[in-house]
Amino acid sequence: MHKKIIWPDGKKFAFTVFDDTDLATLSNVGEVYSLLSDLGIKTTKSVWPIKGPRIPKLGGSTCEDPEYMRFLLDLQSKGFEIALHNVTYHSSEREDTVRGIEKFRQLFGHYPYSLANHADCEESIYWGNYRLTGINEWVYNLLLRFRHKGIFRGAVEGDKYFWGDVCRDKIKYVRNFVYKETNTLKACPFMPYHDPSRPYVNYWFASSEGPTVTQYNECLSEENMDSLECCGSDLIGHFCLA
Ligand SMILES: [Zn+2]
Repeated sequence: MHKKIIWPDGKKFAFTVFDDTDLATLSNVGEVYSLLSDLGIKTTKSVWPIKGPRIPKLGGSTCEDPEYMRFLLDLQSKGFEIALHNVTYHSSEREDTVRGIEKFRQLFGHYPYSLANHADCEESIYWGNYRLTGINEWVYNLLLRFRHKGIFRGAVEGDKYFWGDVCRDKIKYVRNFVYKETNTLKACPFMPYHDPSRPYVNYWFASSEGPTVTQYNECLSEENMDSLECCGSDLIGHFCLA
């Protein structure tokens, strides 16, 4: 049973968003963040610190865009958390990952507190079949016809994509599973948790899933919000925008 959380000011639950930066540009997210800021909802905005040299499957602005960077620093100054979504929108070998993480620190004054793996990056850490163990891993590989087996190698020592030691030394939290359940802590009551079989991640956290507007709005229905509010203070909503 999860220890009951006492939220500040007698609040009944907490709500936040981890925004994966896929496709984000100043023109399509600027107004969203203005609204969140006006409402006092200080969420987590992930970034890509460096501009990759290759054409991405899913692009978006990076910290190398000066106007976008000014927007990010303004968000940070208002209390939004800036987090990492890997260092850019496509795979990065170890040297580039290290460079991107140092660039993050240089730009924002600290190493990233949290990371969400980007699905198009082969250096994603404990991703694909590496998220699972034993029979679960076997079933995962079978369902995907082994297409993702061994793709994500950020934790595979000796591989050109390996950066597990850097992740362990510089980053505290990494997102793992996402759930349909609006009450994230009910779906994953032990988070944040350490998994000794995946030692390069200090703590894993979970999210409720909202990858599309429709799914996001369904998860945030008034009924679900009422349920969060009425069920007591040991609950949390934590959404991921993939
Ligand atoms: Zn992504």
